[in-house]
Amino acid sequence: MTFFMTSIANILIYSLDFLDSGVSLPVTLNCSSCGGAVVFASRSSASAVCPYCQSMLVRHDLDVEAIGKVAMLQQDFSPLQIGSEGHYAQKDFTLVGRIRRGWASGYWFEWAMDFGDDREAWLAEAQGSYAVNFLEKNPGTVPELGNLAIGQMVSIAGKPYQVHDRRETFCEGAEGALPYPVVQGQKAVSVDLSGSDKRFATLEYGEQGVSAYVGEFLTLPDLRMKNMRELDGW
Ligand SMILES: [Zn+2]
Repeated sequence: MTFFMTSIANILIYSLDFLDSGVSLPVTLNCSSCGGAVVFASRSSASAVCPYCQSMLVRHDLDVEAIGKVAMLQQDFSPLQIGSEGHYAQKDFTLVGRIRRGWASGYWFEWAMDFGDDREAWLAEAQGSYAVNFLEKNPGTVPELGNLAIGQMVSIAGKPYQVHDRRETFCEGAEGALPYPVVQGQKAVSVDLSGSDKRFATLEYGEQGVSAYVGEFLTLPDLRMKNMRELDGW
């Protein structure tokens, strides 16, 4: 019960902040399924995975709703962890959650980045390569999935990109705080595009429609990462 009492205290403290500023995060709330304390890390954290019972929680102000469970992520070789910090485009960020996205021949991670604002930002990690990308709210008209071919040029927010990959993906599990809830096994088609220099874009075709993300390829040293995970044998 100790964590339960602590969380009530936290809620009271943060409730006052909410009154003052509208939104103040992180906020710790109790899982509606098991009562465990769950941290919603940032202004963009509409969801979080309960670390005790793996429930996917959706936050409505200070209420949480469980919408099912997601798989726990197994040990892996990522040098990153929740709480790793870095720096991008003159701003510091913290990794607050992640989704493991599987496809026919492998998987990659999408790390939710918290820049202390309400932007939806992700650090994609695939076999040691990294890309930062942000939700583009005004991408313009993007092609329907049936009309997309590898090599095709697509304009996203007025900039040209070339399609270089397209794959069916499904959610294999998640942890931490996320900008939106995910469902175990949830399917989407992920289309990767590249622009000039190191520019990168992804089109996500899911049940809710298409979302566009734009960003760039980077290395971990570029991002000045700190508080990395200590891996055995590294
Ligand atoms: Zn729980």
